[in-house]
Amino acid sequence: MAAQTSTSLLRLEHIPNKGRGLIATQDLKAGQIILTESPLLLYSATPLFSHTPSPYCHNCFRTLPPSQTFQCPSCSNYLFCSQKCLSIALNSSHSSWTCQTLSHLQNPTSPLSEKPCELQVQARLIVAAYNLAIHTPSKLQTLLSLHGNPNDQDSIVDNAKFLHSLISPFCSPHMNFSAELAAKIIAKERLNSFCLMEPYSQKGPQRSIKAYGIYQKATFFNHGCIPNACRFDYVESGEPGDEHNTDIVIRLIKDVGVGSEICISYFRINKDYSTRKKILMEDYGFTCECDRCKIEASWNDGENKYSDLPHVIFLSKFVCDKENCAGTMAPLPPKDGEKSNVLECNFCGNLKVDLAT
Ligand SMILES: [Zn+2]
Ligand SMILES: [Zn+2]
Ligand SMILES: [Zn+2]
Ligand SMILES: [Zn+2]
Repeated sequence: MAAQTSTSLLRLEHIPNKGRGLIATQDLKAGQIILTESPLLLYSATPLFSHTPSPYCHNCFRTLPPSQTFQCPSCSNYLFCSQKCLSIALNSSHSSWTCQTLSHLQNPTSPLSEKPCELQVQARLIVAAYNLAIHTPSKLQTLLSLHGNPNDQDSIVDNAKFLHSLISPFCSPHMNFSAELAAKIIAKERLNSFCLMEPYSQKGPQRSIKAYGIYQKATFFNHGCIPNACRFDYVESGEPGDEHNTDIVIRLIKDVGVGSEICISYFRINKDYSTRKKILMEDYGFTCECDRCKIEASWNDGENKYSDLPHVIFLSKFVCDKENCAGTMAPLPPKDGEKSNVLECNFCGNLKVDLAT
């Protein structure tokens, strides 16, 4: 697996009432990068029957250049930012099998054209995962080893049956794909995927998602409503064809002592108690009982009247205040062992000097 990891900084351990989690193996400094990892699987979040074509390269997910783009020679649906991205994709994510299968699924007569966007995106997931099985089977095995399983009542099973029935005519029998496998893939994705977001825009009230990525190690970070680490992505950075722009980068917000668990927030940290409770139960199947949740559970109007509480101080310091952002701020990586007093927003890139350090 192409991952550059600082695994010696982290250890996977059983954590009471939480399952597995990642623990610091040594004292770590605020701003330190503790994990950089390439995706196991990456796929577009644009529905198959989108009214507007995706403005992103289908290999690296950078915004397509306005001038020259490169088209898949076999279908007209897929655009790439560079010859290099096109070549990489033709040998991996946009293989001839993928190209052919997606072309059929995207035919105007396809039953998928009438289906909700969510199902159209799940079709992309299944195609991407089957393609992984064809080209790098060990990666599919790793994906299947992650947590999350479909249960029988789940809509996952119905979706999987439907999608597999559409895709299986393009699979040869020796590939051993099945509706059960498709259901497992959807269940794994639901619990383990990270969103690659569209670039920050001051105007946008809603952040849209470019793509979904599954990362083998990053998926073990548990959720924290007051996290001590956060995730950065630099999808738009680097040169076209440089593949590391979709790596996930996890950086510490605060100092972490040896033996402490490192948590990230699974969503924007400024969400109120009832919203967090709902997302954590519906999407991740658990109730958070952290100090912040315990305190906020008793707030009736969601208003914060207690400005000296530790988590209120935390939020006022680490939530980015740029318009329509609310990303999480973390210090820049330490230089020569010295902590930085500059905080960087993980979404808009805003920098601000932390006067308290
Ligand atoms: Zn590209
Ligand atoms: Zn194609
Ligand atoms: Zn909580
Ligand atoms: Zn920001």
